[in-house]
This record gives sequence, C-alpha cells and structure tokens, in this order.
Amino acid sequence: MKLNKIAFLLAIILFLIFILIASSDEGIINEIIWLILILLAGHNVFLGAIKDVYQSKILSEFFLMTLSTIGAFLLEYYEEAALIMLIYNFGELIQKKAVEKAKAKIEAANKLKIKEAIREKSNGNTQIISPMEIEEGDILLFKNGEMICVDGELLSENMWVDMSSITGESKPVFLKKGDNVLSGSICMETLAKIKARKKFEDSNIYKILIEVEASLLNKSKYEKFIRRFSKKYVPVVVLIALAIFIFPIFLDGDYNYKKWLYRSLVVLMISCPCAFLVSIPLSYFLGIGALSKKGIISKGSEFIDLIAKSRKVFFDKTGTLTKNVLKIQKVEALNGYSKDQILILAKIAESISNHPIAKAIVGESAFYPIDNFSAKEIPGEGIIAQIKDEKILIGSKNFLKEKGININNFDKTNFIEVYVAKNSSLIGRILLEDEIKEGAKNLGEELRKYKIKKVAILTGDNFNKAEKIAREIKADLFYAELKPFEKSEIIINEKRNSKEKIIYVGDGLNDAVAISNADIGVSLGKLSSDLSMKAADVSILDDNPKKIIEMILTSRKIFSIVIQNTVIAISIKAIVMIFGLLGDAKIWQALAADVGATIVVILNSLRIIKT
Ligand code: ADP
Ligand code: MG
Repeated sequence: MKLNKIAFLLAIILFLIFILIASSDEGIINEIIWLILILLAGHNVFLGAIKDVYQSKILSEFFLMTLSTIGAFLLEYYEEAALIMLIYNFGELIQKKAVEKAKAKIEAANKLKIKEAIREKSNGNTQIISPMEIEEGDILLFKNGEMICVDGELLSENMWVDMSSITGESKPVFLKKGDNVLSGSICMETLAKIKARKKFEDSNIYKILIEVEASLLNKSKYEKFIRRFSKKYVPVVVLIALAIFIFPIFLDGDYNYKKWLYRSLVVLMISCPCAFLVSIPLSYFLGIGALSKKGIISKGSEFIDLIAKSRKVFFDKTGTLTKNVLKIQKVEALNGYSKDQILILAKIAESISNHPIAKAIVGESAFYPIDNFSAKEIPGEGIIAQIKDEKILIGSKNFLKEKGININNFDKTNFIEVYVAKNSSLIGRILLEDEIKEGAKNLGEELRKYKIKKVAILTGDNFNKAEKIAREIKADLFYAELKPFEKSEIIINEKRNSKEKIIYVGDGLNDAVAISNADIGVSLGKLSSDLSMKAADVSILDDNPKKIIEMILTSRKIFSIVIQNTVIAISIKAIVMIFGLLGDAKIWQALAADVGATIVVILNSLRIIKT
C-alpha cells in the first residue's frame, strides 16, 4: 500500500473515532487533533495546490479544495473541513480504479496489431515467421505498402519509405543501400531487402504500437469544449463566491461575516468542475477501450463523435465486402501459349504484391528466387514486371488498354478479370471468383435501419462484378472501374455536396487515399494493408464488415453517455447552487453533491465497458 492510501485510511479511522467520542470539549487540543487529521486526509491536495500556485495555475481543483478547507477550519467547522478532504480523496480513488481498469483493456488490444514477416534463408528460399522470431542479422523482405517491423540496414540498392507515422513528415523519404531503415516506416518499394539490426522487441515499432494509447490525447471537439468551458467557469464562480461574501455588507443590516463566508464557501465548492473534467475524458477513454476490445481501434476520441453523427457509409469491394481468399476459376491462353506458361509468368510477377488477386495466383510460396527480375505494383490497376528480357503487364482491362494493348479477344464475364500481356501483346487472361463475405449480405439494408441514408460501393473491379455485389448487400449505388484517386474524388465530392459525415471502409493499398479523405476512414480486415491501416482513423482488426454496424452503434452509445453525463452534472450543480444561495446547504454537502455527481457520471460511463 502506498503512503497516500495509509494516510487516507488512518484519517478515516481517526475521523470515525473522533465523531464517536464526540469532541464536544473545546480547546486547543481539540483543534490540533482536527488539524492533524485534516493534514493526513488532504496532504496530497495541499501539496498539489502549492505546486499549482507555483506553476501559476491558481484556479485549479486542488486550490479550490484547499481554500474551502482553510475557510471551514477558520470558521471552526472542523468536521466539515475534514469531510471535504475525505470525500474528495474518496472520489479520486474511485476514478483511478476505473481508469486503470480501462487501460489494461486497451493495452491488450494493441498487441493484436503485430503481424508476420518474411525471412530469406541462406539458400535463397523464404519463410514466413512471426516478428517475435526475428534475430539480429536476419534478412527480411518487405512488399509495397507493408510496415517494416524491425530496425535495420537496407540491402536493396535504394528504396522509398513513408516515415510519417514516426516523423509526422508526409513526404516519402529516399534511402540508399546501407542506410538505416526505421521500423514503423512503410515500404513504398516493390520489394525491399533489409538486414535486421535489432530484435523485434527492441525496435522502434514498439513505440508505434503504443501510438493508440498516445492517440487518447487526441481530444474530441466536445472534450476540448468542456475543458475551455471549465477554465472560464471556475473564475466566474470564484467571483460569484466573492460577491456573496462581500455584497451583503451593504444589504444586510446585521451583517455576519461568518454566515456569508460560509455561504460563499458552499458556492465555491459547487464550482469545482470535477464531474465534467473527470467524466467526459473518462467516457471517451472507456469508449476507446470498449471499441478496442471488439477489435475496433480508434485513433482518437474525436472519431467517436464523428462516427456517432455519420449518415453515409461507402465501401471498397475486393477484400472488404468480398472474401480476400480468391479462387482461380479459369486460365485462358492466346497465341499458342499454354495455360501453365501464363500462370508461371503471373506467379512471378505477382510475387511482389499483397493484393488478394496476387495471393490467389501465387499460392503457397512467398517468392520465386529468380535473377533479372524486377516489378512494380500500380495500386488498384496491376503490375508491370521485367522477367529476364521480357516485359510483363498484368492487371485490369483498363490498365492494359492504357498501356496500348489491344483487348478485344475476350468476352465480358462475371468474374474478376486479370489480363496478362507480354511485350505489348495480350497472351492470356485469368478469371478469379470472389465470394461475398457472410457478414456483408444485406449490410446496406441493415445500415439503413440505423439511420444511415446512403450506402455505396466504390471498386476498381469491373461493372458486372460491382453490380452483383451491390445487389447482394443492397447498396443504394455503386461505382466501378475506379482508380485509387477516383475513389477519393467521389468521397471529396460527397463531402462538398452535403454536411453529412461520411465513413469510408477499405482494406487495400488502393484505398489509402480515399480512407484519408473521408470524414472517418476505416481500414477493415486482419490482412488489410499497413498503408491503409496507417491512413485510417479507425482500424478494424476483423474481416467481418458487420463490425461497421457495431462501430456505429457503440460510438452512438458512447456519445449519448457523454451527453447524459453533462446533463446530470449540470443539474446536480444547479440544484445545490440554489440551496447554497438560500443558505440551506452545508459545505460538505456541496462537495458531496459534486463527488456524488462525479461518481454517478463515472458509474454511467462504466456502462460503456459493458457495451
Ligand atoms: P477493389 O477496389 O474492389 O478493392 P482493386 O482496386 O483492388 O479492387 O482492383 C481493381 C482491379 O485492378 C482488379 O479487378 C484487377 O483487375 C486489377 N488489379 C489490381 N491489383 C492487381 C494485381 N496485383 N494484379 C492483377 N490485377 C490487379
Ligand atoms: Mg480492396
């Protein structure tokens, strides 16, 4: 037990003994015993007040408490002076407990963010490992859009990285062979080879993982408003208290300074904004904790307000509404190529990508050790690869068309179509089937039940596919064959045309821009790309799109609890204020009302954990 708690307990015991023995005998001994008791009970508050005055934060909570205690003591209301400290500290104790409980929950959720790494063995083969297995000196491979999970040295010739989650600088940084790569950076190269300098546990990434906690400082508008409000509110009430003490001199024929000082102390006590200051941040804090327990990581309390108010939800298709495990349905070959030849070229080219299409084509093995190979992924479009002397293009119809390739040889289908070209001529097509996720069925209809007015799909995939999925989820509308920036333009237009808040949910590299432009950007999925996770305001570590409904309902509940708490706190204070002015309230009652209000709002906030 800490010294604080011992002193506090001791004070309570003494207080009870004292009340029982009824310290009716007047005298200096009596006063000294009360003084010791009050110091025991309130030493932390007095020290806090001295510190605050020293830092010129005169009108702090501690200062108000100290002032009232001194006032009550001088007026010889010893029990009350002691009660002020006891009640105040009791309230503090309860608050701390609630906060500690919530913190433990949030920390547990953070650990879920750690994913996997690819290690290159000495024979050139690769192996998927957990980041915990990384040893110093290991050679690791990272793909475009992945977060580098270890501090190390760059072995590739050069590399662009996005270090904004570490430095806040959003421009990409260029690194050369031998340079240090900081973990937490995002790989913007097709494929980067990095030699680990540290173990995962010692890497910078651990600090990044704590980012969610730091984001708790990301206050919501409402929270900031309450802070500003209480800053102005305290001085105003102190002035009112002073007026109550002074003005009656002119009005009251037989002015009794004791009576009016007492009343002004009551008012002062009520001015203590504890109930707001504690309950509102606590509600958001618990809210973020409750969300993260469900695998919904919000990077700040401001998003809870925004989600609660949102009326539009736009979804990406592939990987978000449809399963990210795709199946190859058919390989079609042209110009005398065999299906196997098409597949082999596709496998090599796709080995650098994390896209669900790439995973389906590549299959089990992570990389093909092959000389003279380089490739680049164009998010949402496809891949340009150089395999030995041959230039391979693989991607959507529009992507190949734009590269000047003639595509008239194939019919339209209801599958995901991936076209393969070699040295400027089309050589084949791979058709993949993506199945709608169980949780996506009728999602649009369900969202509309909860006051969402517009549900849309934005996809880079073809029209037929988009239409089919839109029908299955009962979306209001869909847009197909979009490039990443077009997705983002649609979001920006929506925002321009109406004030209603818009949520965008995506998973891939191609969703990052749209995610960062939406009012609330959400990355969904255990396998969602690190880039979209980083761009997101909220990361859902679950593949089920139904989580969006949970996110909206939980946020609304949190927001309504915040509003309830504000109303409760203001009403209790207003009532006691009136009694105080009429002279019917005692100082300790005024404080008990504040602590009581604080406890009521804390209990109300704790309901959030159960959501
Ligand atoms: P969505 O917007 O629904 O998530 P994407 O933007 O990821 O879909 O993909 C759109 C289209 O671009 C795909 O249907 C495919 O034709 C093509 N494409 C994207 N990435 C790749 C890739 N790595 N390999 C081949 N084709 C790709
Ligand atoms: Mg996607």
